[in-house]
Amino acid sequence: MKIYFNEEHILLRDMVREFAINEIRPHAQNVDTGQFPTESIKKMSELGLMGIPWDEKYGGNGMDTIALVIAIEELGKECASTAATMMAHTSLGTTPIAVFGTDEQKAKYLPDLCSGKMLGAFGLTEPNAGSDAGNTQTRAVKKGDGYVINGQKAFCTNAGYAGTIIITAVVDDGTEGNQIGAFIVEKGTEGLRIGEPEHKMGWKGSDTRSVYFEDMYIPKENVLGNPSKGFKQFLRTLTGGRITIGALALGTAQGAYERALKYSCEREAFGKQINKFQAISFKLADMATSIEASKHLVYNAAYLKDEGEDIIKEAAMAKLFSSEMCMRVTTEAIQVLGGYGYIKEYDVERFFRDSKILEIGEGTSEVQRIIISREILKNISSV
Ligand SMILES: Cc1cc2nc3c(=O)[nH]c(=O)nc-3n(C[C@H](O)[C@H](O)[C@H](O)COP(=O)(O)OP(=O)(O)OC[C@H]3O[C@@H](n4cnc5c(N)ncnc54)[C@H](O)[C@@H]3O)c2cc1C
Repeated sequence: MKIYFNEEHILLRDMVREFAINEIRPHAQNVDTGQFPTESIKKMSELGLMGIPWDEKYGGNGMDTIALVIAIEELGKECASTAATMMAHTSLGTTPIAVFGTDEQKAKYLPDLCSGKMLGAFGLTEPNAGSDAGNTQTRAVKKGDGYVINGQKAFCTNAGYAGTIIITAVVDDGTEGNQIGAFIVEKGTEGLRIGEPEHKMGWKGSDTRSVYFEDMYIPKENVLGNPSKGFKQFLRTLTGGRITIGALALGTAQGAYERALKYSCEREAFGKQINKFQAISFKLADMATSIEASKHLVYNAAYLKDEGEDIIKEAAMAKLFSSEMCMRVTTEAIQVLGGYGYIKEYDVERFFRDSKILEIGEGTSEVQRIIISREILKNISSV
């Protein structure tokens, strides 16, 4: 990825790679039993990995999206749950405040979020509003200077450990045409109830829960940005988030590929290394090629975002291609390892289980195809 990396990016990559191998890899199997990676997040905070793209004024690293992608990719090569915790905290939990927050909100929340002292979460999805997020049922009714919120969010990553959860709700302020607004909900707010952790196929160490709002009062200071633009803000947040899902897909796929490649050099059958069989070497060739193609899509989308370009199509392409690539690569990695691929000790079955969510979260593959087709067709007039 030389064309996208400057010297700072290379230093960051080398540092995170070494950290991930030495500090994340040894705990990955344990995290996969459902242990939230508290100690690793603490160490990542000390290394400055919880606020990579945010302003130094607020304790961030002042780096760019490419740097964030590098860190997620390297962490993802060892433990997708740990990488997902940092990814959701940064690209979903912190972005709305960093990009749309008032100066007061930034000053109040960003230092703790950027330092990792506090985790961030993001609640858009509801039991009946996932792909159709506009069907949000949660209601925020104006009362005095603030809002009383009732409703529920589903599948909220980091919810059980978060200091702040950014949520959406339909704003009922007595005017016509209720819009979706966004709110900053602090841990411990009266009326906020956090559900039990979900039991998942993969991302087992990442925390996923429902959250409930029961007559929860939110003061006007915690309305995020323009109350009538909450939904647009969330869509913009998700667009950037798709690049980071692409980054995690890259990491997860490489984690599985590297283990399959190593195994193919060690395992013998019929008196020779299995990678001497074309059936295996061609699998490795296809895996390496699709990872390389995916890298270009993900880093190009990150580069364009940093250049301030409109990246709706590029981010969706990066997410769609990389997540589907990751599912194929992790499936083939198990095949290369044969029966051992099915056994936990060899890690590739973990990468396989950690892959599937990438085709679902932050917009399913079907939704990405809708976005891409809409973007490529919008400027073509019918003949
Ligand atoms: C582990 C995990 C972590 C998550 N973290 C978060 C989080 O932190 N914050 C958050 O807000 N959400 C989070 N989510 C929710 C996730 O983003 C949603 O699950 C996802 O957007 C899909 O929504 P849904 O589950 O309601 O599926 P549905 O929208 O009900 O979709 C079901 C199926 O129908 C298809 N479909 C729906 N509409 C269309 C259409 N118009 N055209 C074609 N096909 C369609 C879908 O592609 C899918 O195949 C998380 C989910 C999981 C599993």
